[in-house]
Amino acid sequence: MPCVSCGFVRLVKIAAFVLTASVAAMPAARAEADGALASEAARALVLAPAPSGLRAVWYGGSDDPAATLDRLERAGFRVEISLPPSLFYVRESTRRAAALPAGFSFGASAPAGAPAAASDADLFQGRDDVRPPLAPPATAGTRSASRAAAMQGLPFGARWIDTSEFMIGRVAVAILFPESDGSTDPNRYDWTPALRDSVLRSAVRGLARWTSFAARRGIPLSFAIELHAGLATRYEPISRTSGEEDLWIQDALTGFLGYKSDAGTLEYDAANGVRSRLGAQWGVLIFAVQDDSSSTGQFADGAISHARLGGPFFVTPVKNGGSAFQGASLDSYMEHEMAHMFWALDEHFPSTGWWSCSLTTGYLNIQNSNSVVPAAGYCGFPPAQCLMKGNYPDSVCVFTQGQIGWADRDLNGIPDLLETRATVFPDSAEFHAVAGSTIILRGHALEFPLGNQNPYHFFAGDSISAAIVDSVVYRINGGPAIPALAVDGVYDSGREYFSATLPSLPPGEYVIDWDAWNSNGLKSANNPSTALTLSASSAPAGLGGGQPAVGAMSLRFGPTPSLGPVRFALRARPGSRGLCIVHDVQGREVARWLVTVSPSGTASWMWSGRVASGAAAPSGLYFLSLEIDGAALKRRLVIFR
Ligand SMILES: [Zn+2]
Repeated sequence: MPCVSCGFVRLVKIAAFVLTASVAAMPAARAEADGALASEAARALVLAPAPSGLRAVWYGGSDDPAATLDRLERAGFRVEISLPPSLFYVRESTRRAAALPAGFSFGASAPAGAPAAASDADLFQGRDDVRPPLAPPATAGTRSASRAAAMQGLPFGARWIDTSEFMIGRVAVAILFPESDGSTDPNRYDWTPALRDSVLRSAVRGLARWTSFAARRGIPLSFAIELHAGLATRYEPISRTSGEEDLWIQDALTGFLGYKSDAGTLEYDAANGVRSRLGAQWGVLIFAVQDDSSSTGQFADGAISHARLGGPFFVTPVKNGGSAFQGASLDSYMEHEMAHMFWALDEHFPSTGWWSCSLTTGYLNIQNSNSVVPAAGYCGFPPAQCLMKGNYPDSVCVFTQGQIGWADRDLNGIPDLLETRATVFPDSAEFHAVAGSTIILRGHALEFPLGNQNPYHFFAGDSISAAIVDSVVYRINGGPAIPALAVDGVYDSGREYFSATLPSLPPGEYVIDWDAWNSNGLKSANNPSTALTLSASSAPAGLGGGQPAVGAMSLRFGPTPSLGPVRFALRARPGSRGLCIVHDVQGREVARWLVTVSPSGTASWMWSGRVASGAAAPSGLYFLSLEIDGAALKRRLVIFR
């Protein structure tokens, strides 16, 4: 089995790297109030028994939440549920293999809770609990600084609307507590700290069932939770129909984010914000609705817990249904609705035809073959116990697993989405140089995601990879593997440019073989080579000491990372002219040069590391593009002050 936990740790590494840019998405006063709330909630939660198989770890500091979580994971713990920066539940089996970093301590060992009641009765008693997937809001393509920040660290290939495409990696969960202010609807219910704590305990237990399913299958999965209370709305959510929920969601998220927009835009912005703040791959919003003294426990149209298929949110009342529902706890609703976030369909009866066994869904487009709609066994498979069919909190059928992205269609014990590989592309297939000169070979490696087959994205959704390019190595004439360097200083993305400065070699013919490895622990699908010819003559040597074959050009620049100034040296066709531009991560141009290549085939210039106004360019990643002679080069450079 490949090193699945390695991939997990490396995913976390990316998250840590992008964190600095991501904190802006929330007003400062709210961030402070929510920090105090999280710390109180964590102190209450740690007194409750830990979910089965997990052990509480406490952190006494108040460091950045995502960085604290990353530190514990890097130390070798499988953190499955967390309320960073204070409380983390780690799998007991990883506890023995690793030592806690400074400042962390284990909570008391707690007896396992009683197993949850399981029965064939569904949680919804005939109600639909799935709303059709949210259409992409009109603002989906809008660019802004805060949105760009919230989108950093997305899984490779994902965009703003891709907040929960398959249940692998770290999932950031914001639990939101809307509070009616009585201005439109009469105020019937108010939140109390104790009630919020009970919602949090249910979320922890319900989500821990998912991480247990994942742990048994070697799948990296964790949930990191944020709490946000006191989100004012003019409406009393439980007094409204589920069809009217955009009204109070819009109110609550307007106050949360600090600006106005349509409900869909606010939902995706909020989900991306929590995803970015917690350094996660995915983001989900849970709207908890206060109705604790209601006799019916339902919305005005009879709905109880319900979800948007594919995210980014679900809604759950504290009290789901009346006395007839007493067999099921809020934990089970948390567990069930989270599956809908990742595209799992219902299997319970009766339901509308939308969720029948003839439907297929999810990133890998898996049929709903355990459905009892229209009749048990109709789908051609004997009905299996499953949390999407009845109240079976500890059973998840193979079809639901497939729909959330855990399908193992080649039956080798590893989910297909954790078996993707990268491909490596050296810039030149042939390279000629003079022996004794400095030889630098370049290229890029690209992670190859499985295609997104989700029918609700019209089979044209974004193809996304759970993995990143981890390293590139080369061998000279079949010798030992030598690492090539990432041009931007770190392998942390699905697309990486690399350079390799070869050791000194005598004149002759050589074959350089290339391999890229990704965070799934797998080698590139291809292994291309570069034919290197080193001549003894002192004929044209120059920049880089090498001359790419077939009229290609070469660009050297450095240092990167740089404290500011960056020098550029280009070899290209003598007399050719071109344009070189540097952009920042938000796409803004920060520098440009007209480049004229000298009769000897070289050009050189320097960037002072300052933007047009004269101010120092901030630390971060920059994109360089050079167009010359009908060809284009794209490179990345890093300023680090
Ligand atoms: Zn459902």
